[in-house]
Amino acid sequence: MRDWHNYTPSANALTDRVILVTGATRGIGRAVATDLVKHGATVILHGRNADALDEAYRELRQLGPEPAVAQLDLQRAQGDAYRELTDQIVARYGRLDGLLHNAAVLGDLSPIEHYDIELWQQVIHVNLNTVFILTRCLLPLLRQSADASILFTTSGVGHRGRAYWGAYAVSKFGIEGLSQVLADELENTAIRVNCINPGGTRTRMRAQAYPAEEAQTLPTPESITGPYLHLLGADGRGVSGQRIECQG
Ligand code: NDP
Repeated sequence: MRDWHNYTPSANALTDRVILVTGATRGIGRAVATDLVKHGATVILHGRNADALDEAYRELRQLGPEPAVAQLDLQRAQGDAYRELTDQIVARYGRLDGLLHNAAVLGDLSPIEHYDIELWQQVIHVNLNTVFILTRCLLPLLRQSADASILFTTSGVGHRGRAYWGAYAVSKFGIEGLSQVLADELENTAIRVNCINPGGTRTRMRAQAYPAEEAQTLPTPESITGPYLHLLGADGRGVSGQRIECQG
């Protein structure tokens, strides 16, 4: 059994790895992207907002290998945008060693009986459909890597349903299913597939879900990056088809 929580990567644990992180402009995605760069990875920072991406790019390029930027609004993007993103990675790197699906939206906390139908479709689209589309587009690039890692992000409510978590919970159940199906399909290949649950973490999404909570009691995104680095780096070799809890 691996000690995910106390994993301390060596300084060059991610060297020479090209890794795409979705939702890298803030929260957990930003913290993981930062640590990946610090440990030698070339990170493709995904986000939807050009200014936020530029700000992240400027900060991270001072910490390690120069990152790249991929702007794509997951709610609005159509086929062409995914093709462009894939073509850019092909042209610049020719392969992908890691793919962290981190971007997501919370939607509304509301009973199913009253859940807004349009919002339901948006949440399922951003949190699940686009994760499938991106994975499908990028698999040929992941196959070019000698050791590739796909990491999906789930949640406690994606494992056991909870009242009022609506489309968000259902999208994360879908993510766990996608992860299991893909891990099975890619068994005996150089691509490993896992799911990670960060657990309650001090971010904008958590504050949106629990507005009355005392944020100081929660771990920061920066304090939970260890298991992400383990799974995305070479030290995670041999681990596939797992669901990893980031906290305890
Ligand atoms: P944040 O809300 O802090 O960050 C979400 C990221 O996703 C942002 O970079 C955001 O970009 C991006 N994003 C959202 N919508 C889109 C879109 N349409 N197109 C492109 N990018 C988009 O969330 P967290 O860091 O808390 O969450 C990260 C992951 O961890 C999520 O998958 C979440 O479900 C999961 N998680 C989080 C927990 C927690 O307690 N924080 C607990 C369990 C799971 P922008 O800044 O432009 O909005």
